[in-house]
Amino acid sequence: MSFADLMAFQRDTEALGHIAGRLGWDQETMMPRGAAGHRAEEAGALEGVLHARRTDLRVGEWLAAAVPADEVQAAHLRHIRRDYTRHSKVPARLAQELARLTSLSQGIWAEARARGEVAHFLPTLQQIVALKREEAAALADGTNAGLYDSLLDDYEPGATAEWIGGVFGRMRPRLVALRERVLGAAAPEPLKGEFPAEQQMRIARDLATAFGYDWTRGRLDLAVHPFSSGSGNDVRITTRVSETDPFNCFYSTIHEVGHAAYEQNIDQSFLFTPLGRGVSMGVHESQSRSYENQLGRSRGFTGWLFGRMQAEGFALNLPDADSFYRAVNRVQPGFIRTEADEVHYNLHIMMRFDLERAMIAGDLQAADLEAAWNDRFMADFGVAVDKPANGMLQDVHWSVGLFGYFPTYSLGNLYAGCLVKALRADLPGLDGDLARGDATAATGWMRERLQRFGGLREPRQTVAHACGFEPDEAPLLDYLDAKFSELYRL
Ligand code: ZN
Repeated sequence: MSFADLMAFQRDTEALGHIAGRLGWDQETMMPRGAAGHRAEEAGALEGVLHARRTDLRVGEWLAAAVPADEVQAAHLRHIRRDYTRHSKVPARLAQELARLTSLSQGIWAEARARGEVAHFLPTLQQIVALKREEAAALADGTNAGLYDSLLDDYEPGATAEWIGGVFGRMRPRLVALRERVLGAAAPEPLKGEFPAEQQMRIARDLATAFGYDWTRGRLDLAVHPFSSGSGNDVRITTRVSETDPFNCFYSTIHEVGHAAYEQNIDQSFLFTPLGRGVSMGVHESQSRSYENQLGRSRGFTGWLFGRMQAEGFALNLPDADSFYRAVNRVQPGFIRTEADEVHYNLHIMMRFDLERAMIAGDLQAADLEAAWNDRFMADFGVAVDKPANGMLQDVHWSVGLFGYFPTYSLGNLYAGCLVKALRADLPGLDGDLARGDATAATGWMRERLQRFGGLREPRQTVAHACGFEPDEAPLLDYLDAKFSELYRL
């Protein structure tokens, strides 16, 4: 009976968690400005209910007594046990302090960023790092060894800093070499012009459809930062529009469809269970990045998009599909991670990974972060940071306590490299399909081989199962070398 009781209890916890997510979606898209305080009260009350359920002593008793009958039940128990253990290890006082501080600190970070004043954010950052170190120590059971790993575990169960550090160490020289060759070659012409929002959104909706977004169980709205929200039969996405840069809207949309399709395509029998959501941030990102980059920025698909933009009546400064493909994939060093091209992106992540690991280890103090950031940026990118908004204040993550999150973006790229390698081997007609704007075979492959399983397997095993081989960095690096050597005629 224990297993059935546990799953019934968990089902309501999952549903309440979905409601908390829906409140967040509403806040970012529809909520009137004056309702922020009202919403904070609602979200806080719901968070209290959720925390009480996640640490409910009956969960511990059910877990101790439950005997799994099969692989699916064992996976359910694994997820619930991990969650219960995690929430029970962190003292309620610390959890509350962190929640309170990180809800305030986002505003302080935004102010500091707007004013260009690092000093305005430093005392807060110092407190956040102190609390995260305390949390990490509680999670690591008092040992000092695995502080960063225990934070990483929240986003990418099973991954360790040692493994990621090794992967990054092997990736860096090849990425740097490729970047040098690309920047030494002639830069392609960028897309220029004015692109009205309404027409961009028409194309964005076509893109979402092309990549398999199920409109009967989702919707598309505008938000400052694009995101996907929800799971199961209510998965909503957002995008943004810049009238001078339609690629921002188009590729944000495809990216979020990758996240959303993962959630929408999970086996319906996993609804309202721990298996009914994407298994980790890295695997999630592997979906959004393979949709956006490997498929969406391919020669075939950009050819279709070029035609679609012409059909929309846009006056394009680029004469043909080839120059359009080159404009979409233009490589340019820049300060901002979220705007980085495929060649530069992972270098941004490696830098954040090293800096945040040093902060959590206690080797780098908040007061020294700006200098460390700027030195490292000069060494890695050859450019001096001109203002904090282009440097250490550019990302929201640390201000809301997300330490250990950044490397999952690069793991997503690494996994995407593996998945698309396997997918291409199975689908020899892929480029022809994409050139017709048809991604059905590719998205169907992802659904059958990975998405439908939800949280059944651990993250790395999820990818290995889909690919048929153990994931590593080689397929991603081979893909980048081949793509950009051809594109830049190196
Ligand atoms: Zn993403």
